[in-house]
Amino acid sequence: FIGVMSTPIRILPSHLVNQIAAGEVVERPASVVKELIENSLDAGCGRIEIEVEQGGVKRLRVRDDGRGIPRDQLALALARHATSKVADLADLEAVATLGFRGEALPSIASVSRLTLTSRTALSEASACDEGRAWEVTVGADGQIEDPRPAAHPVGTSVDLRDLFFNTPARRKFLRSDKTEFGHLEQVVRRIALARPDIGFQLRHNGRPVLDLAAANGDDAGILSRLDRLLGNGFSAQSLALDASAVDLRLHGWVMRPAFSRSQADQQFFYVNGRMVRDKLVTHAVRQAFSDVLHHGRHPAYVLFLEIPPRMVDVNVHPAKHEVRFREGRQVHDFLFRSLQRRLSQGTLGVSPVSAG
Ligand code: ADP
Ligand code: MG
Repeated sequence: FIGVMSTPIRILPSHLVNQIAAGEVVERPASVVKELIENSLDAGCGRIEIEVEQGGVKRLRVRDDGRGIPRDQLALALARHATSKVADLADLEAVATLGFRGEALPSIASVSRLTLTSRTALSEASACDEGRAWEVTVGADGQIEDPRPAAHPVGTSVDLRDLFFNTPARRKFLRSDKTEFGHLEQVVRRIALARPDIGFQLRHNGRPVLDLAAANGDDAGILSRLDRLLGNGFSAQSLALDASAVDLRLHGWVMRPAFSRSQADQQFFYVNGRMVRDKLVTHAVRQAFSDVLHHGRHPAYVLFLEIPPRMVDVNVHPAKHEVRFREGRQVHDFLFRSLQRRLSQGTLGVSPVSAG
């Protein structure tokens, strides 16, 4: 009878609700950068610049040249469950954007000092913007101030400082700046692999780490992006693949078995452009390679599965690393057969050498 009976049920203040949600979406600087880059991609940008200080804990800024957010929607963008990407259940069943939960910005804002700056291209819809950039800051209590004029080209910047300054328990789980930056860089690389059409720049403590120009859609540009990110020779050592079944398409590159790796460190699989880790996928790939790979060696691949959105549920986890296929068996068989066929053609006449 102690305590419990006398504590009334309360609706939590929204700032606290956001901080609780942040526990699921914002684990470390790398998860922040993932959410912000995905927002930039959803905004149709052509280039993304990421500026990081002290592993992303001290400061993290993502700037894009996308369509921007009108002045009168800046506060909404920071509100919980506010999104421009889905409107009803039918949309949710067929999401084509990377985001849709309307959770990232409010969650990030609740555990950092965040400023959102944006400018839209001049159009009727954004007449209230007066053709200039606007900026909002979120206070320590979660209050959003009125927009003030700012200097910014068309596009959006999210600038945050002091990640987890108000949630010391979370902050304790962070590793060294070097480790945190390592995770963050991996996220940028994974996304950059899938989007050679987008330019990426990453800087850490003022030092350039990655500078990738947008490829103009031809194979040469895409292959050079692969080689930049996976090491010279990746494209030369791999087989291009493009297979289709009724509703499914699998395309990308698998490294020739002769160049298999000693670690499973180059395995990238994307479902409708979203990098995922999935048991079913891993199993299908491993099975396809099982006949052609020596024991203890690992395949390397960059593969893209395109599947009608209704056949895959991406709303399994807030961070969206996981997906659930509606026809798992069918997807598994398609992956296995497509890869096995390509590998059996590709290995003819190649003598085994090892790399990696
Ligand atoms: P979600 O991405 O799930 O919609 P977010 O909290 O990440 O939720 O973002 C909320 C909204 O803010 C988005 O739906 C979008 O309208 C807007 N927004 C966020 N980032 C950007 C950006 N970089 N450019 C343009 N609009 C953005
Ligand atoms: Mg988002």
